[in-house]
Amino acid sequence: MTVSIPVGEELGPSFSAEADAVVVGSGAGGAVATHALAEAGLKVICVEEGPHVSRERFSGRQLEATRQLYRLDGMTAALGTPSVVIPMGCSIGGTTTINAGTSFRTPERLLRRWGEDFGHTATPDELAREFEAIERLMPIAPVPDHLLGGNSEVVRLGASRLGWSAGPIPRNAPTCRGCCRCVLGCPEDAKLSMNLSFVPAGLRAGAIYLSRLRVRQVLHRAGTAHAVAGDLLSADGRRRAGRFEIRARAVVLAAGAIFTPILLRRSGLQGASRHLGRHLRLHPATRVVGLFDRPVRGWEGVLQGYFVDEFAREGVKLEGVFVPPGLLAPALPFFGVESAEVMRRYENLAVFGAMAEDDSPGGVDGELWGLPRIRYRLTQADANRVVKGAWAIGRIFFAAGARAVYTGIHGHERFDDVDALERLLAHSIPPAWLELLSMHPHGTVPMAADPGRGAVDLEGRVFGTQNLWVADGSLFPTALGVNPQLTIMAYARRVAQQVAAR
Ligand SMILES: Cc1cc2nc3c(=O)[nH]c(=O)nc-3n(C[C@H](O)[C@H](O)[C@H](O)COP(=O)(O)OP(=O)(O)OC[C@H]3O[C@@H](n4cnc5c(N)ncnc54)[C@H](O)[C@@H]3O)c2cc1C
Ligand code: SF4
Repeated sequence: MTVSIPVGEELGPSFSAEADAVVVGSGAGGAVATHALAEAGLKVICVEEGPHVSRERFSGRQLEATRQLYRLDGMTAALGTPSVVIPMGCSIGGTTTINAGTSFRTPERLLRRWGEDFGHTATPDELAREFEAIERLMPIAPVPDHLLGGNSEVVRLGASRLGWSAGPIPRNAPTCRGCCRCVLGCPEDAKLSMNLSFVPAGLRAGAIYLSRLRVRQVLHRAGTAHAVAGDLLSADGRRRAGRFEIRARAVVLAAGAIFTPILLRRSGLQGASRHLGRHLRLHPATRVVGLFDRPVRGWEGVLQGYFVDEFAREGVKLEGVFVPPGLLAPALPFFGVESAEVMRRYENLAVFGAMAEDDSPGGVDGELWGLPRIRYRLTQADANRVVKGAWAIGRIFFAAGARAVYTGIHGHERFDDVDALERLLAHSIPPAWLELLSMHPHGTVPMAADPGRGAVDLEGRVFGTQNLWVADGSLFPTALGVNPQLTIMAYARRVAQQVAAR
């Protein structure tokens, strides 16, 4: 599918435009909001800092892909104990371009909690209608058996022997061929990330997309936003090629949970709420590797094909995550020869991830030397969830016949039998001993009925403003507990409907 999107420097050195609505960011929230606004008949411009990259340029080579598609080569991090790496996408399609395609609906228990504690009005039935509308453009189905691959088969076997609740993951990749490269950009155009679904649909509905435009500020007067302004960037994103200003009657921020609060702060738009930038949720996650005597060949099949939700009520979710060797090797708890020995048996390795539904204090405090200043302090309760997840994966691997299990837990890196693993839960593991990643930053501009509880109102409008909206992963007032893209899209549609109505 060929889509042509202008690049910042082609518009320079000075560019201005006018629209009914301008959307900042083209990820799960921005692309869906843009499409909904265009369908409602508004003239809408969506500006994206990253490039537009089509599949011919998805080389599958890790270094090239991270440079091309990830922000800061995937190395954004939250400082704290421990620090947490937060990979994020930066291209047309946002993080969806490099995500795994996992598409879970919002748990109903959360919708009830958000209703009771934060006044959210979305009922399960209303949200189901949004999901149905989304799925018309982006069909979702569980991974079929023939695409599960060895990694998921190992977990299916182990979980069934233990009698644990598990299943194939629902995904938005109807023509997937199971090449296991989703996080480097799908070379088959099979995963219907935003660049292949809502972006083209938005363009067909009349929306304008511009790439390599970095918004620096929302311009506003007396609570009314009237424009966004920033830099036109060169095609490789390294050089400022000019300035732009786009005037609009409505401004919708969908720059993601790290950059939306930064943009608001930088624009002097904290609003009337002390909640802006606080309550960062990360779904802190750890990887566990199982070594088998038989070939697993985890790269044949879907990268994230299977889940285990046996411990979901305790805030622990397990999901497949078979990554390329260049990403797996640094995640192993070994160095030098030992690491090489394990990597030599890559064919016999299985890899699964555990993530926690977290409640640890964290936030985005602005910028330092041009980088986001993110803090996060993992509590003991959340650390225990991560450890429980690692233990559970170890149990599954041993039940499926693993010879050894490797974790990212300092002092407990290797287990050679299930008895040793059983003793893991007897320890209180200090949070600092965990090696963590976060694929799901969210919650930094929470939606609530009043400014005492959130930073945007129930329509998604920043408190204290008339026409400034948020439509991305920032909106959720607590940890989501499932992979967020589908919930972000549903909420973005609801916000866009409010913008259009006004
Ligand atoms: C490796 C990986 C795998 C994942 N897998 C899954 C999965 O399988 N399922 C799932 O549900 N979730 C997954 N996620 C998470 C999911 O993709 C994100 O939660 C979701 O895309 C977030 O949507 P968003 O709209 O909030 O932000 P994003 O999708 O990150 O979009 C924000 C966009 O705004 C742009 N932007 C930021 N600042 C500016 C600015 N100043 N000016 C202009 N543009 C700007 C960014 O470049 C970016 O493109 C994964 C994440 C990662 C990193
Ligand atoms: S497994 Fe391969 S074909 Fe399937 S969605 Fe991922 S990258 Fe695309």
